[in-house]
Amino acid sequence: MDTNWIINTIGQLANIGDGERGITRLAFSDEERRAKEYAAELMRQAGLSVRFDAIGNVIGRLEGTDSTAKVVLTGSHLDTPPDGGKYDGVVGVVGGLAAIKELMARGPLTLPVELVVFTAEESSRFGYATIGSKVMTGLTNASSWNRVKDQTGLTLKQIVKDSGLNLAEIKGAVRNRDAIQAFVELHIEGGPYLERYRHSIGIVEAIAAPTRLRILIEGQAAHSGSTPMDERKDALVSAAMIVLAVQDIAMEHAHQGTVGTVGIMRVYPNAMNVVPGRVEMGVDIRGVDHASIIDTIQDLKDAISTIADGQDTPISIDVLASEKPVKLDDSIALTVEGVCNDLGLKYSRMPSRAGHDTMNMAKIAPAGLIFIPCHKGISHNIEEYAAPEDIVNGINVLTETLYKLAK
Ligand SMILES: [Zn+2]
Repeated sequence: MDTNWIINTIGQLANIGDGERGITRLAFSDEERRAKEYAAELMRQAGLSVRFDAIGNVIGRLEGTDSTAKVVLTGSHLDTPPDGGKYDGVVGVVGGLAAIKELMARGPLTLPVELVVFTAEESSRFGYATIGSKVMTGLTNASSWNRVKDQTGLTLKQIVKDSGLNLAEIKGAVRNRDAIQAFVELHIEGGPYLERYRHSIGIVEAIAAPTRLRILIEGQAAHSGSTPMDERKDALVSAAMIVLAVQDIAMEHAHQGTVGTVGIMRVYPNAMNVVPGRVEMGVDIRGVDHASIIDTIQDLKDAISTIADGQDTPISIDVLASEKPVKLDDSIALTVEGVCNDLGLKYSRMPSRAGHDTMNMAKIAPAGLIFIPCHKGISHNIEEYAAPEDIVNGINVLTETLYKLAK
């Protein structure tokens, strides 16, 4: 494994969209396009045949000896959130190419192997994630993209058009599930567990899916001086109780891997001298155990109804998103486990609490996700760091896994 080439290539990609506070290659931006073109050029240099599909996913293909055989896929993404890091997504793209180069040096495989750079994985721009893999797996189509907007009000439909893609052809990017043998992604953990336990590899068993709630609390705006304490309907007091309820209830379900967060709170009128009349909150509940998520949400709904009655502030709950956790393929996990044992690498079986392209690919193919440690679990930040040794370990595991799947 050519560690210098790997680290150097990660460094080259970090120059695209490099800013003072981090790396910014937003979904469908010029920076993302340049990064994808750079990756395409590297794939060509390596001897792969390269194409861009209808949503701009880059696909580099290594032929196998059986041209009618199903394909083994690996890949990740090159877009970032604002002020992101060097490794999220990049490790899976550069690592995938390094793995394929290693396989080429060993001689022909039976099955073809493809490296995919998925378009627009991050949700930062549109609040809508993994667009390239959603398109590839038929989980979205252009007709709904009028409703998806970025912060400047541009619709996803318009942005896709402006980036030179043809909306009428988007469906052409959908892959046939009968044509895919397996999908495996290499990615930084983005959490602290592997580093904490000094394990080199995480073998992901399931990917958490978010349930998102919008909670609206109706109190009564009133003068903060002249309204007696026992006559107030303070929406923010009710909101504070809900924040604590989310914390308490999620803690009770934490042993099943469920987490809960209040990430948004809007207070109206948000004035120092007015008792808050209305509060809007955004709650994100995630986990990998569907039953635990359902229990958490039910417990939260019960707590909220008690708060609403006790505080005399009507509260409504809107479910914005509710997705089931995605279970990954057992036999691929076993293959990765065997590879780790062969290579003498310590590993953890673990869930992924963040979403990845793998969760979409799992809907059309047996799918696996391999994690490597990242320092202090920091991701989506300029501080994001994965050690060369850990990156190389991850690529070795990916290489041997792809070899077993395609040989
Ligand atoms: Zn990522």
